[in-house]
Amino acid sequence: MVQKNLIDGEWIAGSEAFRNINPSDTNDVVGEYARASAEDARAAIAAAKAAFPAWSRSGILERHAILRKTADEILARKDELGKLLSREEGKTLAEGIGETVRAGQIFDFFAGECLRLAGEVLPSARPNIGVEITREPVGVVGIITPWNFPIAIPAWKIAPALCYGNTVVFKPAELVPGSSWAIVDILHRAGLPKGVLNLVMGKGSVVGQAMLDSPDIHAITFTGSTGTGKRVALASVEHNRKYQLEMGGKNPFVVLDDADLNVSVEAAVNSAFFSTGQRCTASSRLIVTEGIHDRFVAAMGERMKGLVIDDALKAGTQIGPVVDESQLNQDTDYIAIGRQEGAKLAFGGELLKRATPGFYLQPALFTEATNAMRISREEIFGPVASVIRVKDYDEALTVANDTPFGLSSGIATTSLKHATHFKRNAEAGMVMVNLPTAGVDFHVPFGGRKGSSHGSREQGRYAAEFYTTVKTAYTLA
Ligand code: NDP
Repeated sequence: MVQKNLIDGEWIAGSEAFRNINPSDTNDVVGEYARASAEDARAAIAAAKAAFPAWSRSGILERHAILRKTADEILARKDELGKLLSREEGKTLAEGIGETVRAGQIFDFFAGECLRLAGEVLPSARPNIGVEITREPVGVVGIITPWNFPIAIPAWKIAPALCYGNTVVFKPAELVPGSSWAIVDILHRAGLPKGVLNLVMGKGSVVGQAMLDSPDIHAITFTGSTGTGKRVALASVEHNRKYQLEMGGKNPFVVLDDADLNVSVEAAVNSAFFSTGQRCTASSRLIVTEGIHDRFVAAMGERMKGLVIDDALKAGTQIGPVVDESQLNQDTDYIAIGRQEGAKLAFGGELLKRATPGFYLQPALFTEATNAMRISREEIFGPVASVIRVKDYDEALTVANDTPFGLSSGIATTSLKHATHFKRNAEAGMVMVNLPTAGVDFHVPFGGRKGSSHGSREQGRYAAEFYTTVKTAYTLA
């Protein structure tokens, strides 16, 4: 059965369909999905525009109930949805279920936020006048998501958009339509009025582009590559619309001489290789001071030997396959580039064969890398990391900040002085002390600086900045 697009409250088949393939076993077709056309995208935008006036004035209890019901169903079905996610994206079952639970928690959080919408009442600078400051929805929000978090990223964009009274046109990544289809189905059945949430699965160059080109989309929130992010920005400037971009990272993880070796290695392995390194918060630059360098590298090698890389759904798998062939080629190209640049491939980097045909890659660790190398400057987005040796903390901080990106920065240290200094001086939106660079909470702000992000933060109460616009009203008493 082909899973359809949702436009104006109707499931629409479209003229084409595409297949969702399991990267752990390319013979396994997860499902077939209707491919939306540019026309479908325009119909979805028109439906969202028509639904906006009523939804923007809907009662907070109605919104609360729909988001709450959605949270409950996602959490009740976490094993089944987590399995679907792991099957289509390739992260391990534990990671897939964990991400699904996070999506449920996000809907739960924003269900609560519906009941906490607030403004401010201030005296005017002039006598006998009152000032009210309120937040209103922005209008039709376009949501474009990547493949690496198939349920959490759609959740952290859709939930606040609906909570604050916007209507939505949602285009998930074509590689992973299953999880997105499932949450749209749940929201639809939870009672969303027609046209409030529209799903258009299909190619970015067609469906996504039709969204960028539409004057009727008032805000676009995007997560993905830097190149596509720039297109979103340029088109949004053209239409004078609000936009928010979450793009790549080249996140540093600093290990100081005084660090606990086990804590550093666990955090580094998690940051660099878990979720197959396919997280924008992954660390691919391990910046290590001289005194601990050799011990750290040896311990990383030992730890990496024990990693189980296999079918995402198999019990005991710690690292699943790369998402698809093109991403695998990108990873192996960078491994070749690192060697050509003079870094030493100390561990891993081999293609692996498993019981089923899939995109299996042994995590790779380079040593003797410099921060000027391409492997240290460009986002690889796979299980490939480099160790950069530095003299001391000051050099570590300089190297950590010497990057076009600024999403997450980590440090392993037992020194309060260095931890405090790093928290203040890391040029990143998120800082982790003795923790992996990846792995964040659902109720606090998420986002970066420099080339990693543009616009206000996502998640938690800070999401209101993007999904609302502020009104200041003056009344003569
Ligand atoms: P893209 O930026 O191409 O994809 C992200 C989303 O944008 C997808 O839904 C995609 O659609 C859509 N899109 C593509 N072209 C357009 C367009 N012209 N107009 C509107 N939307 C468009 O990233 P990729 O999936 O191709 O991944 C490439 C690289 O990007 C990765 O290797 C990684 O380096 C980086 N990346 C970073 C992520 C992050 O979290 N920061 C997440 C994913 C990727 P479609 O379904 O057709 O792909």
